[in-house]
Amino acid sequence: MDKNSALLSSPFRAGVGKVILVGAGPGDPELLTLKALRYLQKAEVVLTDRLVSETILQEYVNEDAEIIYVGKQCGRGVSTPQAIINELLIQFAAEGKLVVRLKGGDVSVFSNILDELETLVKNKIPYEIVPGVTAALGAAAYAGIPLTARDYSTAVRLLTYYKSDVVTREYWKELADTNDTLVFYMSSETLTGVVENLVANNISADKLLAVVEQATTPFQQVHTCNLYEYKAKLLNKKFVSPSLVIIGKVVALHEQFKWLSNSNNTQEYFAPVHNHPSYNKAARA
Ligand code: SAH
Repeated sequence: MDKNSALLSSPFRAGVGKVILVGAGPGDPELLTLKALRYLQKAEVVLTDRLVSETILQEYVNEDAEIIYVGKQCGRGVSTPQAIINELLIQFAAEGKLVVRLKGGDVSVFSNILDELETLVKNKIPYEIVPGVTAALGAAAYAGIPLTARDYSTAVRLLTYYKSDVVTREYWKELADTNDTLVFYMSSETLTGVVENLVANNISADKLLAVVEQATTPFQQVHTCNLYEYKAKLLNKKFVSPSLVIIGKVVALHEQFKWLSNSNNTQEYFAPVHNHPSYNKAARA
C-alpha cells in the first residue's frame, strides 16, 4: 500500500495543513495503533497531552517533528488553556504542516475533542480521527476484569463524577440498581462521594469496586473491595494519578483472572504538569 494513501484519499489541499486527532492509548506504548504510529512518523508537529507515554514521544515520533506539550491537569497547577491549543492548531495548519494532536486513551472519551473539532471545521482545516484504546478497556484488560462477562453484566457505562453536579439524585438510584458495569473516569479523588451515593441507594453487596492506578503502565496497582467495606479499606488512600474506578459484579473476576501483580512502586508514570520535560530536537538527539 502506498505510504501516503490515507493522506491522499482525504480532502488534503496543498498549502493547507492537516490535523490528525490521535488516541495514544492508556499508557503501555505498545497499545498504540499502527495508524497512530504511521502518522507520528510523518508528523511535522505533535501537540501532546500529559497522559501520553514518554516512550511514545521519544521513540516513535518523527525526529524532525516539533513536539509541543499542551497538557492539562485538573486541580493541580499549570494547564494549557483550550483557546491556546485551538490557536496552535490553526497556526500550524496555516503553515501547511501535518499536525498530530495526541491525546491519552481514545480521542473522544472525556477529552475536549469537541472544541478542537469545532475549531477545525470553522477554519476549514482538513482532519482525521484515529481512535485509541481508552483507559476503561486498557485497565479492564490489564486487571483481568472482563467488562461484560456472561451472566455478570450485559453493558458498560463510561461515567465521570469529578464534580458533584454531573450525576443527579435519580441517576444515582439507577446506577445503584443496574447490573451494568460502571466505569468512572476522573473520579478517584471524589470516590468517597461515588461510594456514599451508591450505598445510600442500597447497591447490592455482591458488586465490588476496583481502583486501577496507572493502568497498563509498569506501576499499575489494582485495589478492590466491596462498597460496604470501602470506609475500612480505602477511605484514606490517596490514589496515584491517573486512576480509574470500575464497579460491578465483574470486579470479582479480577481475583481469578488477574495476570499481573501489583507494582510496589508508587512513582508517577506520567510526569505531572509542573515538571513535565519540554521537547525539542536537541533534547531528543
Ligand atoms: N481520553 C482518555 C480519558 C481522559 S480523562 C481515555 O480515553 O482514556 C482522564 C482520566 O482517564 C483519568 O482521570 C483517569 O480516570 C483515566 N485514565 C486515563 N489513563 C489512565 C490510566 N493509564 N490508568 C488509569 N486511569 C486512566
